[in-house]
Amino acid sequence: MQTRLPETLLATAAGQEADRILRSCVHCGFCTATCPTYQLLGDELDSPRGRIYLIKQMLEGNEPGSHTRLHLDRCLTCRACETTCPSGVNYHRLLDIGREELDRRLPRPAAERLLQRALRLVLPYPRRFRPLLGLGRGFARLLPSGLRHKLPPAQAVPAWPTVTHSRRMLALAGCVQSVATPATNAVTARVLDRLGIQLIEAPAAGCCGAMSHHFAAADEARAMMRRNIDAWWADIEQGAEARAIVNSGVRRDQAALLLSSMSLSTSTPSLNFTPSMTFAR
Ligand code: SF4
Ligand code: SF4
Repeated sequence: MQTRLPETLLATAAGQEADRILRSCVHCGFCTATCPTYQLLGDELDSPRGRIYLIKQMLEGNEPGSHTRLHLDRCLTCRACETTCPSGVNYHRLLDIGREELDRRLPRPAAERLLQRALRLVLPYPRRFRPLLGLGRGFARLLPSGLRHKLPPAQAVPAWPTVTHSRRMLALAGCVQSVATPATNAVTARVLDRLGIQLIEAPAAGCCGAMSHHFAAADEARAMMRRNIDAWWADIEQGAEARAIVNSGVRRDQAALLLSSMSLSTSTPSLNFTPSMTFAR
């Protein structure tokens, strides 16, 4: 795809990356076959190719509008489109850059910003989210039916296995998951225990940062990722061989996101991203 990004943007690392990604797209549309929003809505602008075009227009200097926001917001960032792209278009990075640029050029209405801020202040912190969920369950009958049906039912949490194994695996306790579906990790620990693997959690780890990242709060997301890596590091050095991901949102490009803020690359000799640190999707 030909691009005409302004020189001022091409002088930035994000601008150069966006330009590279845009040029790798050949408009073939193979990605539309695996995009859930395109399959559901049938609108080209709700397809990866359409969103790439919207981002290209904005980065080339055209004014973004509410339709730009609507179609970028509708993207689930599931990255299914990347699995069918023959050109290896790094779609999710372009979307990150596009969303940050859109928020800068066309700030959200105050009510939306307030809602996003409230979600970022509550959901990543189980000690804040748990009492609110309890309140919601207690007064469920008073809630609008659309909201009431979204309340996760309370779960019985089975006992965590107490047997130790030489093979140990780290799991992310997470934020929303640990409150909404608290049985998930305990059940996983019991299954792995049967397979001779001890599942452990690092108490100091928390939210993976996905929500902040998707709300274009990149610095906040990176801070959460760094805190988790610090929390896991001692166990990884003691031989915890993998990280089990039982929630969604933790992305395999965490390393790239962190490195992009450090102006380093994965080939930097002092950084040793060992195979045991698998950044799973
Ligand atoms: S990330 Fe998912 S929702 Fe977004 S364009 Fe790709 S396939 Fe569609
Ligand atoms: S499949 Fe890849 S190259 Fe083809 S339109 Fe989609 S993103 Fe572009």
